[in-house]
Amino acid sequence: MKNNQQYRNLVTGGAGFLGSHLIDRLMESGEEVICLDNYFTGRKENLSQWMNNKRFELIRHDVTEPIRIEVDRIWHLACPASPVHYQFNPIKTAKTSFLGTYNMLGLARRVGARLLLASTSEVYGDPEVHPQPESYRGCVNTIGIRSCYDEGKRIAETLCFDYQRMHSTEIRVMRIFNTYGPRMLANDGRVVSNFITQALQGEPLTIYGDGRQTRSFCYVNDLIEGMIRLMNSDCSGPINIGNPGEFTIRQLAELVRKQINPNLKLINKPLPSDDPMQRKPVIDLALDKLNWTPKIPLEQGLKQTIDWFKTNTL
Ligand code: NAD
Ligand code: UDP
Repeated sequence: MKNNQQYRNLVTGGAGFLGSHLIDRLMESGEEVICLDNYFTGRKENLSQWMNNKRFELIRHDVTEPIRIEVDRIWHLACPASPVHYQFNPIKTAKTSFLGTYNMLGLARRVGARLLLASTSEVYGDPEVHPQPESYRGCVNTIGIRSCYDEGKRIAETLCFDYQRMHSTEIRVMRIFNTYGPRMLANDGRVVSNFITQALQGEPLTIYGDGRQTRSFCYVNDLIEGMIRLMNSDCSGPINIGNPGEFTIRQLAELVRKQINPNLKLINKPLPSDDPMQRKPVIDLALDKLNWTPKIPLEQGLKQTIDWFKTNTL
C-alpha cells in the first residue's frame, strides 16, 4: 500500500463491461490501477479516458499464464460472461476460470494482496430454491453447455476458500446477478443488449422459449458500488450482489419496446438447453454486512443504457 487508502490495484478483465466501470471508480478516487486483459471480449476504447494518466497502466496478458506484479488488491474479473462468448470455446472458459483464479490466488498469496473474485448467480444453476440465498448450494448440470462457466465459477470459489484456509489469503467472493448498462457489447447475445440493439434497428425482439423465465437485473453503477464495498469490508462472502426486482423476459421485452418503439414485434425462438427458469437474489447479507442495496430501478437503468447504445452503437 502506498499511503493511507491509496492502493495499487490489479483489475483482471478490466477492459470488459464491469471491469472498465470499476476502473473508472478506482481512478476517480485517486488510486493506482493496473488493468490486465487479453481482449477476448474487452475493448481498449472502454479505457481511453485513462490512457495518458500516470496512475493507470494496461497489460495485455492471459490469466491462464502466471504473472508477477506488486499489488495490494486484485479484482479478479477476467472471464467471458455472456453465454455466446463463454460457449465459443468452452474448454478455454473452464481454463480461464480454474487456472486464471489459481494464478491470481498464487499472486495474492505471494505479494500479500487481497483478492476479490467476480463469481456469479450461475453457481445456483437452475435453482430449486427461490429466491436464492447464499446458503443455497445450487442445482448445476455438470455436463451441459453452460457447465464450463457454472462449474468453472464453482471451482474458482472453492479455490478461494482453500487459499483462505491453507494460506490465510484474504478473499472476497461476490456472486453477481445479471447486470446491464452502458458498454455492454451489442453483439454479446445477452438479453438486455440483444433487445436494445434489435429495437434500435427496428427488428423484432427475440424471446427464447415462452418468455416466462425470470431474471433480476442490476444496473452497473449499483453493482460496482456493491463490489467496492465488499472489497473494503471484512466479509469474505460469498455474498449476493444483485437487484431483487424480478421480471419475466417477456416483461423486459415490453419495457424495452415501450421506450424505443411500442409497435415492434416480439417473436419466439427455441429456449437454449439448461436455461434457468427463475433467478432472484436474497440480498439480506449485503444489506447487513455492506449496508448495500441497489438504487436504480429497471426502467431508469434501461433508459440510461438505451441512451448510451443510441450514441455509441448506431
Ligand atoms: P466481459 O466479457 O465484458 O468482461 C470480461 C473481460 O475479461 C473482458 O475484457 C475479456 O477480454 C477478459 N478476459 C476473458 N478471458 C480472459 C483471459 N483468459 N485472460 C485475460 N482476460 C480475459 O464480462 P463482464 O460482464 O464485464 O463480466 C466480468 C466478470 O463478472 C466475469 O468474471 C463474469 O463472470 C462476472 N459476472 C458478470 C455478470 C454480468 O451480468 N455482467 C454476472 C455474473 C458474473
Ligand atoms: N434471452 C432471450 N432473448 C435473447 C437473449 C436472451 O429471451 O435475445 C433469454 C435467455 O434465454 C435467458 C434470459 O434471456 O432466459 C437471460 O439471458 P442472458 O444470456 O442475458 O443471461 P443468463 O441466461 O446468463 O442469465
